[in-house]
Amino acid sequence: MQTVTLNNGIEMPILGFGVYQIPPEQTEQAVADALAAGYRLLDTAAAYGNEEAVGHAIKNSRIPREELFVTTKLWIQDAPAQDNARRALETSLTKLGLGHVDLYLMHQPYGDVYGQWRAMEAAHREGLVKAIGVANFYPDRLLDLILNNEVTPAVNQIETHPFFQRTTDQELMREHGVQHQSWGGFAEGRNDLFTHPVLTEIGTPHDKSAAQVVLRWLIQRDIVTIPKSVSPDRMAQNFDVFDFGLTDDQMAQISELDTGRTLFFDHRDPEMVAWLSKRRLEN
Ligand code: NAP
Repeated sequence: MQTVTLNNGIEMPILGFGVYQIPPEQTEQAVADALAAGYRLLDTAAAYGNEEAVGHAIKNSRIPREELFVTTKLWIQDAPAQDNARRALETSLTKLGLGHVDLYLMHQPYGDVYGQWRAMEAAHREGLVKAIGVANFYPDRLLDLILNNEVTPAVNQIETHPFFQRTTDQELMREHGVQHQSWGGFAEGRNDLFTHPVLTEIGTPHDKSAAQVVLRWLIQRDIVTIPKSVSPDRMAQNFDVFDFGLTDDQMAQISELDTGRTLFFDHRDPEMVAWLSKRRLEN
């Protein structure tokens, strides 16, 4: 598996498996299928409610721990967040049945962000998490976090797909050594991504689907991607993207699809800030 090297030297697979919106009762089977298909990076979150099922699948797979790269995420914590965030991490580790996670992400840029980050820095120093990062940080918030803290996030996981390409975000992240990770790489199928004529046409001579073209395009941009699927066939298809390449011209054709706007929601929209900030998880 092709990997990227994070800013603290940790190797991360460039392609993994996301479990958002997989109901807990289906998650163990989905993760078992994904591991059987060859995925070694698993992306979950406390807020997805399926960490326990991910943990069961890991345990039953008997794959050595060091061959896996497991990410989970910290949900919004009230101030002072140090104790709350620490408890949240301990809960996640217990649910996952793991002594450490490879990457711990702050899920949203809200709440006691600085307290949360300090708790994550401490957990990193103790080896409970091999790398720490963030999700859903726009460039202004990301730069503020980088400039005013000790540890620079290893990763920023943000909505990134052909219709919202995040090229200026990626430039800033490159400049500061933050790895760009895509969520919603398929835009969850919005804008008819899976049958999009440009993507389909690019894939046809390679005998690849629009989905495979999108994953290849992300990988060629050095973006870590974590497609979600509950279908073993689609999991296998999504994993089979290392035997072809897109030309500069094809990469340029996909660049044209960028609308520069979210297809989901803007984390800077006050209504979204208020809506997401209301949610609290039990630690
Ligand atoms: P996604 O990967 O863009 O799209 C998933 C959808 O695509 C599912 O409906 C899936 O259906 C379908 N699909 C998958 N492979 C396909 C293929 N080859 N052909 C046709 N359809 C296919 O959406 P996502 O789950 O939102 O994003 C991926 C991961 O990113 C998540 O699972 C999660 O780990 C992470 N994420 C993080 C955040 C954050 O705030 N940090 C937010 C959203 C997501 P089937 O399951 O039926 O195959």
